Amino acid sequence: MLVENLAQVQAQIRKACQTAGRTESEVTLIAVSKTKPVSMLEEVYQAGIREFGENKVQELTQKQALLPADIRWHMIGHLQRNKVKYIVGTVALIHSVDSLRLAEEISSQAAKRQICQDILVEVNIAMEESKFGIAREEAIALVEEIARLPQIRVCGLMTIAPFVENPEENRLYFRKMRELSVDIARKNIDNVSMDILSMGMTGDYTVAIEEGATMVRVGTGIFGERDYQTK
Ligand SMILES: *Cc1c(COP(=O)(O)O)cnc(C)c1O
Repeated sequence: MLVENLAQVQAQIRKACQTAGRTESEVTLIAVSKTKPVSMLEEVYQAGIREFGENKVQELTQKQALLPADIRWHMIGHLQRNKVKYIVGTVALIHSVDSLRLAEEISSQAAKRQICQDILVEVNIAMEESKFGIAREEAIALVEEIARLPQIRVCGLMTIAPFVENPEENRLYFRKMRELSVDIARKNIDNVSMDILSMGMTGDYTVAIEEGATMVRVGTGIFGERDYQTK
C-alpha cells in the first residue's frame, strides 16, 4: 500500500512540475515518517526513497540507528538548543532554524565535530500565532547574522503553511516565500545560498511546487494518517 501511495505522490509531483514548466529533478520529495514504525520506513526505502523527515530528536536518532546509512535525514520540527548536540552532523539538513541563539548552538556543536551543518531558516509566512518561524520582515537580518557564524551554512528557507481545506488558499503564501528567497539571493550574502525552498505538505504540495518549492515534505500522503495515541 505504501508503495502505491508513494507512486501516486510521485505522479502528482511530476504533474505539478509539468504544469509549472519545471523539471522533476528540481523537486526533492522528503518522506515525513514521524510516529511511523521503522518497518514502514524500510518499505519506503526499498521503493527508492532516501530522504526522510522527522520532527523529534529522539525519534530521529532512534530510527537512524536502525536504518541504512545512506539515508539523508531531515530535522523538520522545532529544535531545542539542548538537543542540538544529538543531531548536528548526523542530519543532512535542519529545516527549522528561527533564531540566532539556535544557530549559534548549531555552529558551536558543528565546530566540535569539525563539520559545517547545512540549515534552512524557518519563516512564519502567514504570521500564525501557533507556529514557529521568524517573521518575513526579520528573515533577511537573521540570515545575515547566521551567515557570520563559522560552521553553519544557510541553504534556503522553509515554511509550514496554514492548515487549509483548499490548497489554493496557500498559493499566495508560497509565492511570498519564493519572492523572499529571491530577495535574499540577490543580496549575495557570503556563505548563503537560496537553492532550497522547503514548502508544501500532503494537502498543498502540488501548489507549492507550482510556486517554486524545491523540497516538499509529505507524511500522510505516503504513510497514511498518524495516530498520536498509540504512537
Ligand atoms: C508532519 C509534518 C509534515 C508532513 O505533514 P503531512 O500533512 O502529513 O504531509 C511536513 N512538515 C512538517 C514540519 C511536519 O511537522
